Amino acid sequence: MMSWGRNYTMLKKYMSKFYLKHLMLFLIFILLFISPIFSYNPPQITQRFVLTEKKLSLMKDYSNKFTGIDSFYLYQPKIIVIHYTATSTFEQAFNMFKQDEVDKEREKLAKYSACNVGAHFLIDSDGSIVQLYPTTIMTRHTIGFNHTAIGIENVGLTEESLTKAQLIANIELIKFLLYRHQSIQYLIGHHEYMNIKLPHYQLYKNKVSDYTPTIKIDPGFKFMARLRELLKEDGIRLKE
Ligand SMILES: [Zn+2]
Repeated sequence: MMSWGRNYTMLKKYMSKFYLKHLMLFLIFILLFISPIFSYNPPQITQRFVLTEKKLSLMKDYSNKFTGIDSFYLYQPKIIVIHYTATSTFEQAFNMFKQDEVDKEREKLAKYSACNVGAHFLIDSDGSIVQLYPTTIMTRHTIGFNHTAIGIENVGLTEESLTKAQLIANIELIKFLLYRHQSIQYLIGHHEYMNIKLPHYQLYKNKVSDYTPTIKIDPGFKFMARLRELLKEDGIRLKE
């Protein structure tokens, strides 16, 4: 006959095993349940691609001429360049980007290539993000850096017309791009592109010797400062 003491020890052993097993199951369940809360949530991006066969061919010619790269592919982008459209509405900007060839009135641009200007993303004043090109294709938005840059355009006539919703959307989009392309190291405003003192400038490529760069003012110093400040608050620091 077993003593009560021995029975008690066995019961304790059994119960502890029983509880341990259930505690483990409970913890696994909790982890499964809460993990989506910590996983990354990408921003809402609407795709309205404006890419055509003609554009790919023009981009390839452009790339050949300016960088010697015989391709329209954007491979491992290193820079994000922020712009504003200098239009007051989304549709004006969208219709302009939709064209295959650059507007002939933009003589300086048209002189070097018929390839239309473009950007990978267009952010409306209400903060909605529209993707115009896959990020694996080059677009013509920042001379000297198109071979390595993702372009983000914001609908707006001036720096003052850019909205808080756009600022937030830029941040969300930049985070998404960093998650997607680990090759990205730099973030600049278009107005900073020819600043030889900034580290991104080492990536400048331009084979066209008679091309004189234009002074750009978009998106503006205040907008970029605010953008960098908010990214820093989220622990994101990109080189300039
Ligand atoms: Zn620009």
